[in-house]
Amino acid sequence: MKKRLVVLGAGESGVGTAILGKKKDYEVFVSDFGKIKENYKNVLKNIEVDWEEAGHTESKILNADIVMKSPGIPDTAPMVVKLKEAGVKIVSEIEFAFPYTQATLVGITGSNGKTTTTRLTHHLLKDGGLNIALGGNIGKSFAASVAQDQFESFALELSSFQLDGIETFRPHIAVLTNITPDHLDRYDYDFNKYIAAKFRIVMNQTNEDFFIYDADDPVIDKWINTHQIASNKMPFSLQKKLEKGAYIEEKNIVIKTEHKFITMPITSLQLSGNHNLKNAMAASTVATLLKIRKETIRQSLEHFHGVEHRLENVLKINNVNYINDSKATNVNAAFYALESMDTPTVWIVGGVDKGNDYTELLPLVNEKVKAIICLGVDNEKIIKSFGNVVDMLVETESMKDAVEVAYRLSERGDTVLLSPACASFDLFENYEDRGRQFKEAVRNL
Ligand code: ADP
Repeated sequence: MKKRLVVLGAGESGVGTAILGKKKDYEVFVSDFGKIKENYKNVLKNIEVDWEEAGHTESKILNADIVMKSPGIPDTAPMVVKLKEAGVKIVSEIEFAFPYTQATLVGITGSNGKTTTTRLTHHLLKDGGLNIALGGNIGKSFAASVAQDQFESFALELSSFQLDGIETFRPHIAVLTNITPDHLDRYDYDFNKYIAAKFRIVMNQTNEDFFIYDADDPVIDKWINTHQIASNKMPFSLQKKLEKGAYIEEKNIVIKTEHKFITMPITSLQLSGNHNLKNAMAASTVATLLKIRKETIRQSLEHFHGVEHRLENVLKINNVNYINDSKATNVNAAFYALESMDTPTVWIVGGVDKGNDYTELLPLVNEKVKAIICLGVDNEKIIKSFGNVVDMLVETESMKDAVEVAYRLSERGDTVLLSPACASFDLFENYEDRGRQFKEAVRNL
């Protein structure tokens, strides 16, 4: 008899899992508590998979042999609780797809820098001649790719939610960019649980695999010193020279592996900011381990101009540079944005605060920020934190307003930086919408 696969959530990873499950001869049922997008419905109809939306029919779900839960669904959702009580196996998309591929997997996780590092890794490896796809949280789902394409390797962006649902998933190369508090609402407000979720990326690795991580990150450092990791450690650091891994020496990125020692000038990098230097070190270490030539890595770094909404240069108007960092939805991301400013800065900040502590930003704000423009429904915490630190603080209610005020307050040589340190849902649909509105308002100045 066919095994029954139930997919909860019909987004990219859910529909991808349905495609793969169908191909592997499961009896597939897809159930979404909300509405399913028209294009996904069409896919499900085409592959002749049974589905429902706007609710879950328990009798069609509790009889599953295996359930794939989409990353957006929390463990506390009533249907998930019932499945757990019934003892049904629940996995994530990457876990479901893992047994069906022989491809070399590079898994990239962290609190910040996942997308940038994943895209850069993909870019370097592709330029190096590998037949590689993007996956995980970016673009076409990993499961659909495994079902339909013939890639030899994958660069996978992995959230902690994807990692929560793994049992056997084992990336040949795991990258952990950093760990700072984020998404704690999904981890019982327990930072340790979130840290443990991130480290699941190494749990099935063996001594044939590699683990690349930020050696300057105190949270990562502490965990590594108190837990066993079976794979080969490849740390990267901006602060110290390392026996193995990547570090900086005399304005060069140095990468040392078992068999290789390569150096590349930092100036090869088009991206600005220390955080991007770290992302580049991580991606270049992956490329070196996968035997891409140094000259190719260097040239490829020169051609990577970053990802939209991440410290993205928009325009220069009257010699004022406008930068869109809308994806900075937490304090740590805004920290690196402010750190990378080398001119007086008009900072647009605010939105939905996920329990932010702004203390660590105070020295940077003091040094670099000449004016703060609050753009959120509730700006109280920002005003309280920075009111005494900057000369000018203005509250605004729309992106158009915020950009026009920034235009008035800035002078030649300044930078206007949108790096909100908050989620966007009070005034915008999502961070992309916020970033696009910023760019549009700047272009209309
Ligand atoms: P993620 O996919 O993890 O959200 P992104 O690459 O989309 O990461 O970047 C999110 C935000 O974090 C952006 O504002 C970006 O400038 C900033 N950022 C990128 N890399 C890092 C890093 N290594 N450390 C801290 N912040 C970073």
